[in-house]
Amino acid sequence: MGCFIPPLIGHAEHLFEQAASTQMVVGPFTVRPDGIKDDHAARQYIGQVVGIIRMIETTVTGKALVGAIQGYKRPVLIFPLVKADDDDEDNAAFAWVDRRMGLFPVVMSFSPLFGQRLREFLGGNEQDFDRVFAPQEVIVHELAHVARAVSGNFGRLGDDEEELATMVANMFSGEIGRPPVKSYDDESNVTGDVAAFSRAYYKANYDMIEAFCKQNRELAIDLSHAKVAFNPLRQYIDENF
Ligand SMILES: [Zn+2]
Repeated sequence: MGCFIPPLIGHAEHLFEQAASTQMVVGPFTVRPDGIKDDHAARQYIGQVVGIIRMIETTVTGKALVGAIQGYKRPVLIFPLVKADDDDEDNAAFAWVDRRMGLFPVVMSFSPLFGQRLREFLGGNEQDFDRVFAPQEVIVHELAHVARAVSGNFGRLGDDEEELATMVANMFSGEIGRPPVKSYDDESNVTGDVAAFSRAYYKANYDMIEAFCKQNRELAIDLSHAKVAFNPLRQYIDENF
């Protein structure tokens, strides 16, 4: 269960046709309940997403990401999760980010999934998942992609863009008292000594961490201020800056 970044999405018409009349701008984000016809549900969607953004802004990680994105002054559209065409049952994305929609250079497809809706999304098999991410963790992962996109860096790390977003979300997880996951390819909880895991992760992902610290220097420094045991960025910056 990860995040999927489609090279091309087939839903562009849908997004514009069904754009709801209500929307809310919060920082660099326009939250628009596309496709939700019911007014109450549309307002609820906006309220939930805005609430999640405000919550994550109370953390070092979330504040650093939102601030970095805001600094590039490129509007970002957030709209309800649309399943990508090639999602299959076992590998459905919780959210995704794409970079092409005229008015909005970057779009994020995201719906906060709780309780019953989450269970339905997981197909009633949530016990089969190593880790079920909180909506806050999902959006932080996506915001790492957004920050890379608005700064013109997205894709420069190749496949490691996913590992980078996973690392940043791991730092956020620590801030809200949850364990990190091992990697993008193994999203199971780290058990045992998180600080030791952080050092091992740093070694294993050194090139990615170095490239990120060079490509998004200010953001990397801001993120490294998170007071969490999993903090490979702090280690890099302590040793190199
Ligand atoms: Zn991702």
